[in-house]
Amino acid sequence: MTDLVAPNNRILIADDDPTMRKVMRAALEKDGYHVVDVENGALATEAFSDLVPAVVLLDVEMPVLDGFAACRQIRDLPNGRSVPIVIVTGREDVDAVNSAYDAGATDFLTKPINWPIFSHRIRYIMRAGSDYQRLRQSEAKNEALLRAMPDTFVILSPEGEIVDYLPGKLHHMLPHPSRDNISLQEFLPRRVAYVWQVSNNAALRTGKLQRLDFSLEGDDNEIFSYEARFVPYVDDRILVSVSEITERKKAEQQIHRLAYYDSLTGLPNRQYFREQLARMIKEAESVDGKIAILYVDLDNFKRINDTLGHTFGDGVLQAIAKRLKGCIRNTLSESTESHGPLGLARLGGDEFVAAIEGVEDEDVLASVAERIRKRLREPVSYIGHEFVVTPSIGIAMYPQDGEDAEDLLKHADVAMYQAKGAGRDSVRFYSGTMSVRSLARLHLETELRQAVANDDLELHYQPKFDLSTGQLSGVEALLRWQHADGGFIPPDQFITMAEETGLILPIGEWVLKTACHQAHAWQSRFERDLCVAVNISSQQFYQSDLRKTIMKSLFEAALKPNLLQLELTESILMRDINDTIATLDYLKEIGVTIAIDDFGTGYSSLSYLKRFPLDLLKIDRSFVNEITLRNDDAAICSAIIAMAHQLGLLVIAEGVETNAQVEFLRGQGCDQVQGYLFGKPVPADEFEVRFLAESAEIIDFKSAG
Ligand code: C2E
Ligand code: MG
Ligand code: MG
Repeated sequence: MTDLVAPNNRILIADDDPTMRKVMRAALEKDGYHVVDVENGALATEAFSDLVPAVVLLDVEMPVLDGFAACRQIRDLPNGRSVPIVIVTGREDVDAVNSAYDAGATDFLTKPINWPIFSHRIRYIMRAGSDYQRLRQSEAKNEALLRAMPDTFVILSPEGEIVDYLPGKLHHMLPHPSRDNISLQEFLPRRVAYVWQVSNNAALRTGKLQRLDFSLEGDDNEIFSYEARFVPYVDDRILVSVSEITERKKAEQQIHRLAYYDSLTGLPNRQYFREQLARMIKEAESVDGKIAILYVDLDNFKRINDTLGHTFGDGVLQAIAKRLKGCIRNTLSESTESHGPLGLARLGGDEFVAAIEGVEDEDVLASVAERIRKRLREPVSYIGHEFVVTPSIGIAMYPQDGEDAEDLLKHADVAMYQAKGAGRDSVRFYSGTMSVRSLARLHLETELRQAVANDDLELHYQPKFDLSTGQLSGVEALLRWQHADGGFIPPDQFITMAEETGLILPIGEWVLKTACHQAHAWQSRFERDLCVAVNISSQQFYQSDLRKTIMKSLFEAALKPNLLQLELTESILMRDINDTIATLDYLKEIGVTIAIDDFGTGYSSLSYLKRFPLDLLKIDRSFVNEITLRNDDAAICSAIIAMAHQLGLLVIAEGVETNAQVEFLRGQGCDQVQGYLFGKPVPADEFEVRFLAESAEIIDFKSAG
């Protein structure tokens, strides 16, 4: 920017003494100045406006208008303030000097004049004048700039006292200091005063600009946001410019909400949760803190969406999110004295996750999870519909189950899958061996699905014999998976998984159908009533329409119902007594017989069995195994046989492998036997040859084995 007054070399002199004027003019012109001289103050005032000199020299005593008065008048003229005016006084008295300054003079010279240095003196006065001029301009400019800004400016002392205050326009909330040197503590709320002082100190220490965002609460609890910049100034003072950024903050928050929150439930989303968890981990790292991750997935939620529509599903998710929120908070505050912050988020779909800080007691976490289960399980009502949503919950803990957010989430997820596998509506803690197993399981599950689709399942048949006659009394159908690798995978390795994944339903149906067809085929080919026993898993019993499936299998195979026996485990009986009795009554009515498999491994007492319409009791292999070796097993076996008979049930021993076992069982009055001693499970054609054809083996119990 250029200066408003161009540098010039014009000098205006007013003196009533012509000699004096002459000498001055000569001295100055010699040094290249352009001089205009007049003989009184009035003329000087007149000449000033045309000339706009670089300096004015005024004699004190002049006719018409003296030096002091002329000085005053010139100061009032345009440009009159910026030009140095020097009063030349003949008297060296303090009064004249004071009067000169009072009149607005810049400096004074005394007569007699020291001519050798006169011109130099004038040059210095001119230079100081233009420096002053520049300074004034720059100050004016700064002031204008400050005024042009809406910000409020505060100048702080190093101790945080307000030295100067320039109020801005937009600061509804920022208080006005009531007086100078008021301290920050008096000026601002405590919390804000503190951070101001911290920023002030940092600016002083580093000499660099510091920024600070802070907020103040308005009358109606409205929040105003501000940005303060602390700029080092002179003399250890700090200039603070404060601008209001309420609107910007709101916009930022809106953007943040859109990017970090799930619009359906209002919960943080996966992205936000990850970042939050990473932060929590960082903090926990330094203080040895613990964090637990609860991964909550709703069971069969897809079904709600598929059958009732997405709008409906959304409503359910909102209701669930709300429950989850309340439930975690309440449970935590009840079960622990103190706990850190917690984060709840929706990861997407029907998956939610909570991070709980500061709780490491597994029992507490289990109770939190248990409460979530109970709370979610309460029926949800939504536009006239009411139904139950259950969760599967996986728990992983920092640091033992994962040291970063990624790992923790993954492992909580794995544990959640484990919970699902355990029949849903349950809770599992992550354990290190899980991943490997889960992966293997996942692989197996895929293969099993393919096996079902490709018809790679097969039934093998194991004979059962009447212990008193030695006659073939029946056959048990046992499932085999002919794996692509060539081998058979035994059912123990895949039945549980088939149950967990629901695959057991189509598999079970297939087993029933195949076994019924086989029994019918043997019946018509060999004209023998051979009862086929089929194992039924509890999922099949409760989740499918078992009666319908059985009727259909019998009907399609044209098999007499009394040639079908169902092997149930004790756990099925224990689950829902009235339901079970109803189903069993129905089956019994049509002629199907019921056996209790693996008896002795469950918890049911014999008297409990009285309530069910059963036909046969199968003593578990584990007891039979050791009856000749362990007295207690022998005692259990004989007790089971005796009491079963009292209840009118037949007894069969499974897993019979030695003659000694046969002898013992016969001694106790056991009715039937099954085991490798008489025949392993074999494919249907082999079974035919060995046990049904005319050439079939005759089992001589005395010499068997
Ligand atoms: P389970 O019903 O108790 O079947 C008896 C198991 O004992 C069969 O094993 C059989 O091969 C085995 N076994 C029979 N005699 C002996 C013996 O003398 N010694 C020994 N060590 N074992 C003997 P498998 O075929 O591996 O079946 C295991 C289990 O898988 C069955 O136990 C049953 O619970 C289940 N399973 C088999 N097929 C099916 C099916 O179609 N549906 C369902 N739901 N479960 C099935
Ligand atoms: Mg069985
Ligand atoms: Mg068994």
